[in-house]
Amino acid sequence: MKTVIIIRFCEIHLKGKNRGYFERLLQSNIESSLKDIKHSFIPLHNRYVVDDFDMCDYDLICDKLKKIPGVHTFSKAYVVENDFEEIKGAVLDLCKDKTGTFKVEVNRADKTFPIRSMEACRELGGIVLDNYNNLKVNVVSPDYLINVDIREDGKTFVFCGVEFGISGMPVGSAGKGLLLISGGIDSPVAGYMMAKRGMKLDCIHFHSYPYTGEAAKEKVIELTKKVSEYNGGMNLYVVSFTKIQEAIHKYARDDYMITIMRRIMMRIAERLSKKIGAQAIITGESLGQVASQTIEGMTCTEEVLNMPILRPLVAFDKLDIIKISKEIDTYDTSILPYEDCCTVFLPKFPVIKPSIETAKQEEAKMDIETLIAEAIENAEKYEF
Ligand code: ATP
Ligand code: MG
Repeated sequence: MKTVIIIRFCEIHLKGKNRGYFERLLQSNIESSLKDIKHSFIPLHNRYVVDDFDMCDYDLICDKLKKIPGVHTFSKAYVVENDFEEIKGAVLDLCKDKTGTFKVEVNRADKTFPIRSMEACRELGGIVLDNYNNLKVNVVSPDYLINVDIREDGKTFVFCGVEFGISGMPVGSAGKGLLLISGGIDSPVAGYMMAKRGMKLDCIHFHSYPYTGEAAKEKVIELTKKVSEYNGGMNLYVVSFTKIQEAIHKYARDDYMITIMRRIMMRIAERLSKKIGAQAIITGESLGQVASQTIEGMTCTEEVLNMPILRPLVAFDKLDIIKISKEIDTYDTSILPYEDCCTVFLPKFPVIKPSIETAKQEEAKMDIETLIAEAIENAEKYEF
């Protein structure tokens, strides 16, 4: 009996005329994620099938499927001909070694199949009971749901249970964004959330060598790699912020230092976005989390931008963000104790409700244009 993996998608079903576009994109994302693993890929109506893989690669394939936005669920399944004897054999094999309660569910998409679904359910259930003393029927909440899917193309899938992917939309279906990634907990989660909605991402990180060390940069590289697993690869641009921070420290009012730093980060991010074709800037900001993330702080920060800024975590509590960061395995890296450039010249009392006018006055004291041009010129690029 042959084993395959059935993959299902979810939100794509809601799409109208351009549904085919989303399906093809998801197909190509799955194929590129599995490109180094021996397999064949079969698109069917409303699902895909991964076939001809080596069983020793099964866990690796599952790990990959769990990181592809757009994959809703998948199941390991036996595939047999639309033949009741063969189906019986598959059901019996699937039930061996199981103890507890079960239910058989039959979907008869192939209307030429001679046994109707209710009858097939009853027959198959009876056969299982006859063969295994340690299984009983429970149609309300069975321990094992045995699914028999009799397809129009002559094949039947027999499987028990589903594994969950992350759902969402296929990467590449929602434009391109530039993620401001720090070494903290929030921004990798923000990147993951956007990847899940189908946005292709690149990352920008500001570091302040020698105030922030090599280890801080390595940490961001590690985080970018982890987020890129959900995004089919990413580029990271590392921009030196040292000169800019020194200038801000020297010329600007203490309480406006962070506000101005963030406004300059946005300007640099916008310039880079134009260069790489990104249509939105993404941050890990969450309303009220720190002084710079008040509504006034965010308004003052984004005032310098002429493009959308998306903050997928704006209404998330820290505990919810931490939960996701553990699920996507960025948490342990994020909590490693390295400095971020934002904490290097931290003022004692940062302004909580900054005014745009004051920010502009403070910025007029330095040559922002030259500093920005130089920072972009010297950006380092890493590809994952
Ligand atoms: P995080 O946990 O993501 O570091 P945070 O709670 O520490 O966030 P801030 O330091 O105020 O918050 O940063 C807010 C957002 O600004 C971050 O989520 C990130 O998108 C961006 N950011 C902060 N520092 C940097 C940096 N050094 N390089 C790039 N982006 C940054
Ligand atoms: Mg931070």
